[in-house]
Amino acid sequence: MNPSHHPIAIVGAGLGGLTLARVLHVHGIPATVYEADPSEQSRMQGGQLDIHEADGQRALADADLTDEFRAIIHEGAEASRVLDQDGKLLFDAPDDGTGRRPEVLRGDLRRILLDSLPDRTVRWGHKVTGTRPLGDGRHELTFANGATVTSGLLVGADGAWSKIRPLLSDAEPEYTGTTFIETYLYDADERHTAAAEAVGAGAMYALTPGKGIIAHREAGNILHTYVILNRSAEWIAAIDFTDAASATARVAAEFDGWAPELTALITDGETAPVARTIHTLPDGHRWQRAPGVTLLGDAAHLMPPSGDGANLAMLDGAELGKAIAAHPDDAEAALTAYEEALFPRTAPVYTQAHDMLDLLLGERAPFGFLDLFNGSNAERTSS
Ligand SMILES: Cc1cc2nc3c(=O)[nH]c(=O)nc-3n(C[C@H](O)[C@H](O)[C@H](O)COP(=O)(O)OP(=O)(O)OC[C@H]3O[C@@H](n4cnc5c(N)ncnc54)[C@H](O)[C@@H]3O)c2cc1C
Repeated sequence: MNPSHHPIAIVGAGLGGLTLARVLHVHGIPATVYEADPSEQSRMQGGQLDIHEADGQRALADADLTDEFRAIIHEGAEASRVLDQDGKLLFDAPDDGTGRRPEVLRGDLRRILLDSLPDRTVRWGHKVTGTRPLGDGRHELTFANGATVTSGLLVGADGAWSKIRPLLSDAEPEYTGTTFIETYLYDADERHTAAAEAVGAGAMYALTPGKGIIAHREAGNILHTYVILNRSAEWIAAIDFTDAASATARVAAEFDGWAPELTALITDGETAPVARTIHTLPDGHRWQRAPGVTLLGDAAHLMPPSGDGANLAMLDGAELGKAIAAHPDDAEAALTAYEEALFPRTAPVYTQAHDMLDLLLGERAPFGFLDLFNGSNAERTSS
């Protein structure tokens, strides 16, 4: 039997791939999204994202989902504060109510995108394991479940470890030397009062050179913590994260002597700690145009988290969707227009992303990070 053919195949149902599918749908263009996860609910979608006017919100407008987006905003969560390791407040910026960078849960955002697509747009349980160019811009995709399809236009929206990227580029992600370790506390105000007070209404940063604790108050009275550590890959690999209690103790030991309301964010964690080693593609990663295939989001420009990655992925999806709609009979013209704008748009963000890691954990921490807030209306409670 011949494999089924899909004029537009998108690999990856993350925020970038789904935004592309939605913007195409708005323009009356069907697409199929192949996703490795077995279902929408099979994996926790991670924390809160602030969605910027210049990229994420613009993409949602192109997706005709601004009202749906407004309905999932976590009001008040734009507050920020910086503490020292003794729990002393160094800086406090309440939510100013301008709503310029509203916070939403990643899972909620993914859901409004999924709900906006026709049935069977996303094919769950389709993990790409192989790709083969067939000529004339067509490709064959092979999946772990044994299925095979062919594509007219193929988009790699499959994140950091993209299986589509090797069709265009030899670049591979490299470890930055920083790892984020996630924990969650639930019913925070009632059961974790001191930690909840330390975090406040929005984001809390407690930073010293080489290590820190960042926590967000999420909708539903939840504290979501990222412990951030500059440590070698070997050091991280030596922690057995399948043994939650010993992994928690090992991570907490790095914060010996810190204020108990801060270390409680680790030691009272109600989910097994999850390590996210932070990788990056080479700065300004780009590729030569190849017929019938392109990349978006982390597959195209993986970089350290600086609050931009999901926003950029959505903007990529929207821009690619509009480029395809503008060149309905010429996929190569669409991909050329998309990539000519993509590379200069993302190259400077690599520098900002690396600079952000340095502000969080570099030798001047937390003062480099505090400088970011200079010029805002926030109250500086200590020098
Ligand atoms: C700790 C941390 C914190 C972050 N915080 C923020 C933040 O606050 N704000 C922000 O804007 N960004 C943040 N980011 C960055 C953001 O998460 C990413 O940039 C964003 O998710 C990229 O979206 P994407 O759609 O390109 O890829 P992804 O979200 O990675 O989605 C890729 C999809 O492809 C699927 N997939 C992968 N391989 C295959 C395969 N072989 N076959 C089929 N499907 C496959 C995956 O299952 C997934 O659903 C953070 C990142 C990290 C690590």
